[in-house]
Amino acid sequence: AAALDRAESLILSIPDYPEPGILFRDITPLLADAAGLRACIDALIEPFAGTFDVVAGVEARGFLLAGAIAVAADVGLVPIRKAGKLPRPAAAVSYTLEYATATIEAHDIVDGTRVLLVDDVLATGGTIAAAHELVDALGGVVVGTAVLMELDALGGRAVLGGMPVTALFHA
Ligand code: IMP
Repeated sequence: AAALDRAESLILSIPDYPEPGILFRDITPLLADAAGLRACIDALIEPFAGTFDVVAGVEARGFLLAGAIAVAADVGLVPIRKAGKLPRPAAAVSYTLEYATATIEAHDIVDGTRVLLVDDVLATGGTIAAAHELVDALGGVVVGTAVLMELDALGGRAVLGGMPVTALFHA
């Protein structure tokens, strides 16, 4: 659709950030654009509409999308945080990402809650795989993952096995 094409054009590619050799996709101009943001939020929800009870966003850019998705889809929101930020973390998972290592934590999720995972970029898949593990450990059921951009060459989708993944844009 034209609105999504325009939205894609708002994502910037920044060389050598945060380290030499990394081409960083910067979604902030897209977030700042009302029509672009709306088109993306609607498109991220559409494949999963009615299938999830909460949306779980991965700190920090995933939070921004999750907040908008939660309100638009009329579901709750679960923050998946970096280690040490939650007052009563119920589970923690450590993993390696494209340019660092990290541990994520979340509070309890009511058993059987259907969870849509959300992040800005799917790269190696390590973050979403860890988020999946975390939701499993907390008793939730992951129904899929929605991201703005998938970096196809990094093979993240294969790492996630058969999980339904919607990516609006590919690079
Ligand atoms: P993965 O774990 O390798 O799939 O990396 C995905 C995580 O790293 C996500 O939380 C992204 O926010 C972040 N990330 C990786 N590459 C980029 C990028 O080019 N732009 C923005 N975030 C990125």
